[in-house]
Amino acid sequence: MITRYPPLTTVAFALLMMLAFSSCNRDNSHASAAEPVRKPSPPTSQAVSLPHVDGQRALQYTREVVAFGPRWVGSPGHAKTQAYLRKELKDDNLQEDSFTASTPAGSKRMTNFVAKFPGSKDGIIVVTGHYDTLYGRKDFVGANDGGSSTGLLLELARQLRGQKLEGYRVWLVWFDGEEAIKQWSPTDSLYGSKHLAAKWAKDGTLKKIQAFLLLDMIGDADLNIERESNSTPWLEDVVYKAATDLGYQSHFFARTNDLEDDHLPFARAGVPVADLIDYDYGPNNSYWHTPQDTLDKLSPQSLEVVGSVVLRTIHLLRQS
Ligand SMILES: [Zn+2]
Repeated sequence: MITRYPPLTTVAFALLMMLAFSSCNRDNSHASAAEPVRKPSPPTSQAVSLPHVDGQRALQYTREVVAFGPRWVGSPGHAKTQAYLRKELKDDNLQEDSFTASTPAGSKRMTNFVAKFPGSKDGIIVVTGHYDTLYGRKDFVGANDGGSSTGLLLELARQLRGQKLEGYRVWLVWFDGEEAIKQWSPTDSLYGSKHLAAKWAKDGTLKKIQAFLLLDMIGDADLNIERESNSTPWLEDVVYKAATDLGYQSHFFARTNDLEDDHLPFARAGVPVADLIDYDYGPNNSYWHTPQDTLDKLSPQSLEVVGSVVLRTIHLLRQS
């Protein structure tokens, strides 16, 4: 994943947004000036009955994946991660989407994993992340970048397994080949998501997708998920509502960024998408794509917050 604009632009945009919001609030506040400060609404009884995301368990999955070492396409750690996903997801109607990608380093065999959980409606909610790490980098284990979403998706699978789901089906996707092989560019990046979006356009699956949520770098102990300008505003609003319902809204959308990530091929195909990403990892994002992206920077609470918000978002989408 890569950002398109320098951070200053992002900060300026965030300030503008804050000004806009504060003036909005002022305009609407006169009628309710005497009312007490509104607290986030507590979860409804339906929300309470939702499966609970176990942050420690999500972190344990992440730990096991990170222990395989670097996981770039074709590396031993990559093969071990694939075997691990096969084992963990064997009861989840797992489909492997294997393909050969043409890259600057020649042809590479890549595989997306799709675990499918049934629902009573034909529509599909897709929740995704990537499991590969930076190509050829032996000093990079990607605990947050690649590891955290891989672990949280495995925990989401554990929660969805065996549930009788009303409404839309839920498919979880572990993308391969998100990272560039040589240098990030439109052709050298996002191999797995581009392949799956094209395949699902062809077989008609894309039309059934009601919402596409992408999780990336969501394990940072200092969790600040950003609003992302290539994402679909109404879907981000549903995510924010879900976060607010659970009292987690302070972790969401204080800043806005513009990112190229695995949601783009689906956004371009007209699918409603939301990239849930914290692109502020360490001082000045200094842990991103460096050897410092290690397990000690993550927290189970962050995984639990994001996982719970994803489940609540699914619940809200199902009611719509
Ligand atoms: Zn990355």
